[in-house]
Order: sequence, then C-alpha cells, then structure tokens
Amino acid sequence: MREIRLHDTRTGEVLPLRPRDPGRIGIYACGPTVYSRIHIGNARPFVVFSLLKRFLEHEGYDITLVVNITDINDKIYDAARAQGRPSTELAAEMTAHYRADTDALGLGRPDHEPLASQTMEAIIEHISALVFAGHAYAAGGDVYFRVRSDPAYGSLSHRRLDEMDQGEGDSDPAHPGEHKEDPHDFALWKAHKPDEDTAWDSPWGRGRPGWHIECSAMAESILGVELDIHGGGSDLVFPHHENEAAQTRAARGRELARLWMHNGMIQLTGEKMAKSAGNIALLHELLARYGAQAVVMYLISGHYRQPLAFSDVALERAQANVNHIREAGRRLGAGVTSYRDHDEKRHIQSFRDRFFDALAADFNTPSALANLYEWIRGAGHLGVKGHNDLREMLIVLGLASLLEPDKQAPLGVRELAELRDQARAARDFKTADKLRERIAALGWEVRDGIDGPELIPLSQ
Ligand SMILES: [Zn+2]
Repeated sequence: MREIRLHDTRTGEVLPLRPRDPGRIGIYACGPTVYSRIHIGNARPFVVFSLLKRFLEHEGYDITLVVNITDINDKIYDAARAQGRPSTELAAEMTAHYRADTDALGLGRPDHEPLASQTMEAIIEHISALVFAGHAYAAGGDVYFRVRSDPAYGSLSHRRLDEMDQGEGDSDPAHPGEHKEDPHDFALWKAHKPDEDTAWDSPWGRGRPGWHIECSAMAESILGVELDIHGGGSDLVFPHHENEAAQTRAARGRELARLWMHNGMIQLTGEKMAKSAGNIALLHELLARYGAQAVVMYLISGHYRQPLAFSDVALERAQANVNHIREAGRRLGAGVTSYRDHDEKRHIQSFRDRFFDALAADFNTPSALANLYEWIRGAGHLGVKGHNDLREMLIVLGLASLLEPDKQAPLGVRELAELRDQARAARDFKTADKLRERIAALGWEVRDGIDGPELIPLSQ
C-alpha cells in the first residue's frame, strides 16, 4: 500500500493519513446551503472529495463519504421571503436542483447526504451537553457558545481572538447580539423570529439551530468523533470549521477530525467567488455548454489547495484535453493492454505508477494528469493496444466515460457516408466534399481509416 499524505490545515503540515480504524476512512465535507442553484465554486469541493474517495478506494480503503445539505439557514429564509415563498419549499426545490446538477457530473453520490432539518434531535442533544458542561449559556431564547471556555479555540484557523469576527452582525445595532456575554461567542440556537416561517421545540423555547452546530451534529451522528478527514472550501476555515471543532471538543473531550483538508477558491476575473456575489458561473449552465467531462477536467487541472482561475479559455483547454484522451482511447481500442515485451511494459507503466504516486502526495491532480498524458504519449509511440490500463487511471478521475465506444450514427448519416464513399470511389471529390460537409452539419465526422470510413461524433 502506498503511503498517502495530505495537507492538514490545523498543523499546516502534509501528514501521513492514519485512519482511526485501520483500512476504513470517514470523510465529512461541508455541502451547499440550498437557497439558489449551485455555481462552479460549490462544485469544486464536491468533485475534490468525490475523487479523493475514488482514489482511496483504488488504494484499498473502505470509504464513507458524507456531504451534508444545509437546509436551515438565514440565507434560505432571506431568499424565500424575497420570493414570497415558504422556506421549506425553496430549500426542497434547490436540494433537488443540487442533486440533479451534481448527478450530471457523472461521479455518483456521496454515501450519506444528511439534512440539518432531519438531524434536530442530535443537534439539541449536542447543545444540551455544551450547556450542561458550562461551555454554552441560554440568553433571551438564544443559546451561545462561550468561546473563552475553550482554551484550544483558534487552533484550526490560527487567528488571534481579537482578529475574529463571528459575522453575526454584533456591530450592527439592528441585530440583537446584546444577549451575548462576549462578542466572540456564537449562536448555537436562535429564538424564533416572527419573519422566519419554521421553528422547532427545544429546552430553550421554539427556535432553530445555528449553522455550525448543524454540521457538528450531522458529522458525529454518521461518522462519530475523531473522524478521519473533515473537508470543505478554504472560506469555511473561520468561523464555520473553527466553531465546529470547538463545539465537539468542548462537548466530547475529543477532536472532531484527525485531519482538516481545505480546497482553494475559484477565482472569477481575479476575484474570489463569494457565495453571495451575483454574475457567477452556474454549474448547470457550464455543464450544458462544455459537458461534464470538461467541467471535471477543468476542476482537476489545478492543485486542490490552490485558487483556480475561471475563464472560458480554461474550460476550452479542459475540453481539448478531454478530446485528446478520447482520441487516445479510440486508438488503443477496448480490452486488456498488451505490450510487446517486459521493457516496454515497464517503461509505459512507470507513468501509471507516477500517476498514483502524485495522488498519494497531497492529491496532486495536475501532476497525475501530466503522467497520464506521458502514458498516452508513450503508448501511442510504441503502438500499444487495449485501453484497460488507461481506464484504471481514468476511473479514479471520474473520466472513464471517455473510453465508452462511440454511439452509432443514425441511419441517414450512415447513408450519406455510403454515398460519399461511392463518390470517392468514382473520383468525384467535389461531391464527396459536399457530402462530408452535410455529414458534419449533422454532428459527425467521416474518417477514412484502414478498415474503410468511420463516423466519429463531433465533440460537444
Ligand atoms: Zn459545515
């Protein structure tokens, strides 16, 4: 088994992966807040953690991937109010859109997708444990976490307390943050407000949970504490993940996660793609324009920890790379990869080994891709046949569909190709060229191979 190393935000080091239970790895990644269609920035963690799961499975681990859905949140109440709709209806609609949009990536679903609204019992139990231990206090129907009661607070984001703003609007006189003992404290439970259309019963009165406690409860109820990898976008390190970590440490006396993994942001025209910004690249629009394989390829073209620039050029480059692999698959043909001799096999397979080694070294997808292209180059140069060894790499990247046989052209297109072949045989190249253009207008390319003309679908 390869040693797998991943960057841990808490220690700032690239650490060997040491699962809590040997051979098994639990991953919790923060999913979307369902108040609008998701954009490419939300798709990045979905893709990173789905592919990490595939890689770890390839390495022989048993993986449980949990990606939650935040369906109770200020943003949902605000968006629903603006549209004059019930918040539960908006959240249900956007959850369905999120599932459909991410399904279309072709990477399968996480093993568990808990909803905050269905984890209420565990959330209330967790808050009760914090209140009982003196780490939280009820005030005016709210419950707050007492940040100064946790000596390790700040150990994930490495911020000083005076640089921390919980973003709960305490400086805004219109918001009643005055229930807090200390402005650094954050809400675990919020008393019901008249302009919110859902509320749940609790020992502190009717209300609803804060965002951070939802994740602590969802993660623990499925994976238990000291889960192996907690992930999400780097914009979540503070306050969301710092607060999740504090809640679990204070209530359970153990760390929530053994390793914290954060992906960089997608940068739109050089600026961070903020969740609330308008004019953002929606995932379903990009999928329609470029196809799922190009979108996945774009997202793995940079190292997951680095910011990734978003542009049409970058997506077009990804599309070209996808076509390059598809072409290689056609050349290789289906079946077991056969090499002429042992030296040839060793030479080509060294790129395959380096592909997996790159993924083991902090999930370096651009380096892995470079080795995959070298594998293709070497195999093409030596006339290797059979795509199975390439397929092994593409499965881990979620791109094995590139090797699926081309669909058969419709009858009308095949008849045009037949006419073109007859025109060529009669040396009537003018007619043959016209027929080629008509076939292209129908979305097909005629290629004259050794075994006669072939019809290849033009790329999306
Ligand atoms: Zn979360």
